[in-house]
Amino acid sequence: MRKNIVAGNWKMNKTLCEGISFAKELNDALTADAPHCDVVICTPFIHLASVAPLVAPAKIGVGAENCADKVSGAYTGEVSAAMVASTGATYVILGHSERRAYYGETVAMLEEKVKLALANGLVPIFCIGEVLEEREAGKQNEVVAAQMASVFSLSAEDFSKIILAYEPVWAIGTGKTATPAQAQEIHAYIRSLVADKYGKEIADDCSILYGGSCKPSNAKELFVNPDVDGGLIGGAALTIADFKGIIDAFK
Ligand code: PEP
Repeated sequence: MRKNIVAGNWKMNKTLCEGISFAKELNDALTADAPHCDVVICTPFIHLASVAPLVAPAKIGVGAENCADKVSGAYTGEVSAAMVASTGATYVILGHSERRAYYGETVAMLEEKVKLALANGLVPIFCIGEVLEEREAGKQNEVVAAQMASVFSLSAEDFSKIILAYEPVWAIGTGKTATPAQAQEIHAYIRSLVADKYGKEIADDCSILYGGSCKPSNAKELFVNPDVDGGLIGGAALTIADFKGIIDAFK
């Protein structure tokens, strides 16, 4: 079933103490005022084991921001999907544009990561999106279609477990948001790619989130589009007021 989801990506922000306080406060806020969508917080690795037991799993899912493309072994500094799952986390962001741009993550590496995440019971939030020059050259569809190769080797059963996030790189952390029409247009295209590969039923059930300078003031106009099923939120996921404001767009 397609779900509406608001997921926060903390990136490299918040000390452990700050993360714990935020998780408790968010849990209290959503216990007092139940969300009308699924809510996920994706935190730095070191926060996961502390944060996961602090939130009601029925209300708030916890996820990592990355995992390794290897099972285990001599990969200093890496964290495997099994390790992430062992903390109580149930989601993992994969293919974020910052990972692709700064850490050289490729389509092939991401294919491995997605498979390992699924094999360990994690739900991948798989990110795709074009950079400004590609948008200006009208190549956004071509770019996202190529990025989808990382998940198009999955079986239909496995594909139906993943969440997609369209994040135009030119909108991430820039204050520049895609217009609702731009978001709807490319989300519909991404859904058509899924339909071509796996059929209409799986495409209809797939949640496709929008990410890129989403905030309380623009969340509703983005989420109201038929192919936009919520958001992956960076900067505005760092304060309770903004994150809750975005969650409330589904009310
Ligand atoms: C992100 O990095 O996933 C993101 C959407 O960031 P921001 O909301 O800050 O643009």
